[in-house]
Amino acid sequence: MRTRNASDAKLKRIYRRLNRQWFGRKLSDDVVVRWTHLDKHTQAEATTPQLLQFDAALKKWPRTLEFAMVHEMTHIELWDVDEDHHGDRWQARMLELAIAGAFRYLW
Ligand SMILES: [Zn+2]
Repeated sequence: MRTRNASDAKLKRIYRRLNRQWFGRKLSDDVVVRWTHLDKHTQAEATTPQLLQFDAALKKWPRTLEFAMVHEMTHIELWDVDEDHHGDRWQARMLELAIAGAFRYLW
């Protein structure tokens, strides 16, 4: 049984739901999604396209968590496309998701 590299079950459920709702299930399910303690300026990060980490402080902020999850999943989606992590392609995709309603009730 994997432990250190295991996903948190609740986070993985959110990942799968968002993948279905907003990414047409295009994103790999082979992604570890887990809680950790990040530096104070970082709430979440796509460490690699197979590892999403969320600061445990977000346990208190479910809407912020979900917003951050979409943000990080968009990094995964564009991992091999967007040279600049928050560049034009990423910005355009986030806008597209916002217009589609991905952030409704989250912002
Ligand atoms: Zn980012």
